[in-house]
Amino acid sequence: MHAPLVSALEQLLSPRARRESDVSTARDFNVRNHALGLPPGLSLRWLGTAGFELSYAGHVVLIDPYLTRPKLRAVVGSRALHSSKTRVERYVGAVDAILVGHTHFDHALDVPRIARLRGARVYGSHSAARLMRLHGLGQQAVEAVPGQIYEVGPFSVTFIESLHAKLLLGLAVPSSGELTCENLDELHGAAYRCGQVFGIHVAVAGVTFYHQGSANLIEERIPYRNIDYLLAGIAGRSFTQDYTARVLRTLSPRVVVPHHYDDFFRPLDAEAGFSLNVNLGGFVEEVERVSKDFRISTLDLLQSAVG
Ligand SMILES: [Zn+2]
Repeated sequence: MHAPLVSALEQLLSPRARRESDVSTARDFNVRNHALGLPPGLSLRWLGTAGFELSYAGHVVLIDPYLTRPKLRAVVGSRALHSSKTRVERYVGAVDAILVGHTHFDHALDVPRIARLRGARVYGSHSAARLMRLHGLGQQAVEAVPGQIYEVGPFSVTFIESLHAKLLLGLAVPSSGELTCENLDELHGAAYRCGQVFGIHVAVAGVTFYHQGSANLIEERIPYRNIDYLLAGIAGRSFTQDYTARVLRTLSPRVVVPHHYDDFFRPLDAEAGFSLNVNLGGFVEEVERVSKDFRISTLDLLQSAVG
């Protein structure tokens, strides 16, 4: 057992927790009631945790897809974690590119399998490229240079230096540092080290998205203002001072789409659960304290918003 990882997960998760305010918030703010207003032909699907699929004009990019969702005991054990072929094939079709914000297991476990299955390129950190090489897929990996624009079909993608929330009681990032495994047998849950952390900006169809995969940021590295859609990771935000206000004031989004509040030890096809300490309902209140002008929309697991 890896004590720091267990401790971090206990901060975030409770497999059976279902908080009434989270349930009602997810229902009330769902895109069925709070439309995203996407341009025609553009769709956004939530894959659970920090995972999203963007589709436009026959092209698809994924961000931090995590579909296998092994149980807690597998994640904290000393055996290698394995991506599920069945689940990957069930949940993702054609993919042009996968964008990886950091390489913790709940962001990166399924990336090599999807890349192999769908022939997708993977853009991310040095650790993400190492993970791809471990799977014999180094030629499909692109080590992202912050600030550089990568064109993927109609998508213009830029990686921005960012930070991970200090989930270990506000003192440290769990499984920090670079992914250093020499072979796949060593890739247990805690071996998916964080690597460099990126915010990801995507421009497509005349609108812009900013994906914040973990609840921390470096304001001065973010050159964007007045973006359309902030995909806001909200797990662990209590360990980052004023996270919600800071990310909103920096990016001034038209619409806020929170994520990473689901209980990711439950399979994607099970009834959704909520992480114990994430508090989706509280996040809405934090947003409204900054300004009531921000629109908030939520997606159910695997739900698509279509323009
Ligand atoms: Zn993480």
